[in-house]
Amino acid sequence: MLPCAQVIKDINSYLKKLEKNMSVTVTSENLSSLISDDVALITYCNERKQQLSASPSQSFFRVYALLIVEDEKKELSIIEGTNTEPDYIGGSICAERAALSNPLARGKTVRKVIITADAAQPITPGPLCREFLTAQVAPDVQIVMAGTTGENIVSVPLGYISLTIYFDLSFAT
Ligand SMILES: [Zn+2]
Repeated sequence: MLPCAQVIKDINSYLKKLEKNMSVTVTSENLSSLISDDVALITYCNERKQQLSASPSQSFFRVYALLIVEDEKKELSIIEGTNTEPDYIGGSICAERAALSNPLARGKTVRKVIITADAAQPITPGPLCREFLTAQVAPDVQIVMAGTTGENIVSVPLGYISLTIYFDLSFAT
């Protein structure tokens, strides 16, 4: 077996172990029903965020983004992203842009974006992220946002966030 294939196998078995401890699991079979269940998706994202072993080194503020994407065969899959920060904060990347930059996102249509963070209230994509999202995601795609408890879920179309410059920028990610 090629080393690369072994690494992917190891990662997949590691992820399977993690998923056993979660209340919501995402599979290719249940994703088509899960896509409309914002509470389950936010629960999943918050549980995945809790599994991140370390906080970002500058902000100590974890953000987790999940894209639900569709391929040309209409099959759904997920792509994850988390914020990552080098010592120089200007070189950092946020969760949404990390997910959108994943090679697995290429050529696929984003159907939903879910964002959770280490915050009491939902946070919204920041200006740079809005530009990034607008370039790759249709304006009618729902952006679902929630804080750590998942109690207050905000779901709005990307077009609304992109056009509303002053949409709660104090909590932008
Ligand atoms: Zn961002």
